[in-house]
Parts: sequence; C-alpha cells; structure tokens
Amino acid sequence: MSGENPSRSSSGEALAEPRIETTPSPSRSSSGEALAEPRIETTPSSSRSSSGEALAEPRIETLLDDADRAFRDVLDATPDGAWFAPGRLNLVGEHTDYNGGFVLPLALERGAVACVRRRDDDLVRVHSTDLGSTVQVRLGDVGPDAGLDWAAYVAGVGWAAVQRGLPVPGIDLTVSSNVPAGAGLSSSAALSCVTARAWADLAGWDLPDVEIAALGRDAENHVAGAPTGVMDQLASVCGRKGHALEIDTRSVEITWLPFDPASAGLALLVIDSRTPHALVDGAYAERRESCRRAAAALGVEELRDVPVDGLEQRLAGLPDLLRRRARHVVTDSDRVEQAAALLTSGADPRELGPLLDASHASMRDDFEITVPTVDTIQRAAVAAGAYGARMTGGGFGGCVIALVDAAAVDRVTAAVTDAAARAGHPTPVAFVAEPGDGARRLR
Ligand code: ADP
Ligand code: MG
Repeated sequence: MSGENPSRSSSGEALAEPRIETTPSPSRSSSGEALAEPRIETTPSSSRSSSGEALAEPRIETLLDDADRAFRDVLDATPDGAWFAPGRLNLVGEHTDYNGGFVLPLALERGAVACVRRRDDDLVRVHSTDLGSTVQVRLGDVGPDAGLDWAAYVAGVGWAAVQRGLPVPGIDLTVSSNVPAGAGLSSSAALSCVTARAWADLAGWDLPDVEIAALGRDAENHVAGAPTGVMDQLASVCGRKGHALEIDTRSVEITWLPFDPASAGLALLVIDSRTPHALVDGAYAERRESCRRAAAALGVEELRDVPVDGLEQRLAGLPDLLRRRARHVVTDSDRVEQAAALLTSGADPRELGPLLDASHASMRDDFEITVPTVDTIQRAAVAAGAYGARMTGGGFGGCVIALVDAAAVDRVTAAVTDAAARAGHPTPVAFVAEPGDGARRLR
C-alpha cells in the first residue's frame, strides 16, 4: 500500500520538498490540475554522478537501496514493488535490425532498478537518482514532442499502452541504473523495459514478453524520438542467463543459444571507450536512408532479402557508398547466422573470434560507424591476444567487446589502456560481461 501521507491533499504538494519547486498554483487542491506542462527538476545527484561516470559498478542491491531511498525522500511515498531490466550487449549483427536481418544480443547482468507504485489518478511522477532529476506529467499530456527529456523513456510506455487501448493508471517511479548512458549497452532499453515490466505487472496487463518489449520500443521511437530497431528491448525483456538470443528481426522470432564463455575458460571483456555516442541522429538517419535506397536499387523489400552468395556481383551496379553500406548489412547479418551455427553446434566459442574481427572491419570500412577511440581499443585488444574484438552498439563511440582467455583479462585491459593513453584518448574502463536474465520483478 501507499505510504503517502494522507494529510497531504495531493502528491504534487508532497513534491514540494526543498529540492523541488512547488507546483505553479498553490491555491489548487490537486497538483494534477496545476500541471499545465511537464515539470522537470534537476538537482545534483546525492548518490552517484551521472552514468557517464563509466563503469564503476554499483551492485543491484545498491541500486535498489538508492531507488528505494529516493522513493521515500523525493516522492514521499512507499513503492508497491521493485523491478529490474538489463542493458544488452550485441555480439554481432549491427544495424541489421532495421533491415529485417539477424542480430545476436545477450542481456547483461547490469541494468536499471525501478521502485514503482501504482497511482489512483493519471499522474506520472518519475525520478532518476543517476541524473538527480524529477519529472511529473499527466498521462494525457504524454506523446511525441512532449518535451519530457529522459522521462520520455518512462512516461512514453504509458502513452504506448494507451495507444493499445489498455487501461493505464498513473505511476510513481524512481530509477537507478549501472548501465553507462550512450555507451552502446542500451541504458535506454533498460529504462524503458523496466518501466514496461513494472507498469504491466501493476496494471494487470496480460501481455507476452514480445509485447512488453514493444511498449518500450514505442516509448523510445515515438515519445523519446530515438529511432531504434527491435533488438534492444527484446534483449532486455527476453534475455536468459547463459544464453545469447538470435533474433530474426523480420519475424521477431527468438532462438536462445547457449553461450557461457566462463565455462570455456574465456571472458567476454567489455571495454568502454568513454566516448559516448551523442548527437549522432543525423548519421544514424543517413545509414537508414542509405540502406533503404540500396534495397530499392536492388529491387528488394529490405536488405535482408539480398543473399550473401554472389554478393559482390549483385552489388556491382550500385554507387560506391550504397554498395559498401549494403555489403555491411548483408555480411553482418550473415555473420550472425554463422555465429549462431557455431553456438548451436557446441563449437569452441573461440571460433567466434574471426567473426568479431570481420564485423569490426565491416563497421569501420563499409558502414563507417567506428571512431578512432574504438578502433584503437579494438586493435590493441587483438594485438594483446584477444580471439576477436569488435565495437558493439550503434557506433560513433561506445564499447568494444573482446573475447579473451579468462586469465588474460588484466593483460588485455592493461594493453588497451596503454594504447588509449598513447593515442591521447580517454582512459577506457573494462568489465567482464556474463549473459543474464531479462526484465523481472525483484520484490
Ligand atoms: P544507450 O541506450 O546506448 O545507452 P541512448 O542515447 O539510446 O544510449 O540512451 C541514453 C538516454 O537514456 C539518456 O540520455 C537518458 O535520456 C536515458 N537514460 C538512460 N539511463 C538513464 C537513467 N539511469 N536515468 C535517466 N535517464 C536515463
Ligand atoms: Mg539506446
């Protein structure tokens, strides 16, 4: 049950603590009525600085404590429960998801923890302990161009549910995450999917996991304005410990494939270049548009429909740029199928290495989405003995993954750190990833 002080006439007034401005009209008894537009309040975070603070890892329990404390201190209420949704790491298959192709992500053990309470009205109040930011908005005011900043990833889920005709109560939500933002590990899907999972549980929406993911995706695409494909949210919701997910993004069919590097004496090292992707919407839009034009020129619906056999011949008539863009998509989607075949057959995961290297070269030379900081790290990791390495995520910064012997983690980390320093790049931060479970209720 709610722990909100019943003597207060409204939740909005409960927000009128020192850190937060009061609502505009003190004479109104209900803050909801006073809400002409969404309020966004930002204070310096009391606990941790923003997720840009790389990969220093607060544990799930710590995230839960932070979110729980903020619920009481900032929202002045008691949560109904707590939920978790992971970030994701894509093993191979980059920019293939909006071309109907294959992807091979896994859910991380890092993610976002949200404490959430169902409300009796249509208000959405959200607070991020990472950003020290509080936003409140009426559900009816949520939509494309609502100007909600980060809270679009939360409130947008409610909007997406309204579009589906679901009954949507207001919610209070606080979130704490240990997925670095903009590093290609989908901090945004962790946020939108933890919200979708919690809201569905509290409102009693009986939806399959794929629909929970779709709510998160709609929030990102339509309310936050981020044109992501279908991969991030599916991985965050449908991830399984010890498995990667092969996703056919056309049929949205998921195949869970055993992937447990540790049992083979390996580690999947994630190296954050500390150059977050930002302001790359234009470059992302250009890649989508190039893919669309290449498909049209080749007379297919999507690049997914171009067979990898005889590819050079098929692409020969295209202008150089479209030829290279299409070659990346078709070959990277094929690399997913090769990797999936290896995992299915129970082959030594080391055999994935050459596929990772080839994917990186393709992103660097054909799709042109890598940057010097990640290229330096990728090269250094391979030179230091990684079986393979590639940038992961949408590109223009972010993380490199490297498949290394478990015993070589420190050596490879030292080598990439040294290489970055010599190149005058930010000091990278590394952690070992394990495939984890998808979005779930914690308590
Ligand atoms: P990525 O998903 O690769 O990390 P995006 O640009 O898609 O990068 O998403 C990052 C955005 O998601 C942030 O700018 C912010 O708006 C939102 N976000 C992610 N994590 C949090 C958080 N813990 N608190 C508030 N907003 C967050
Ligand atoms: Mg994202």
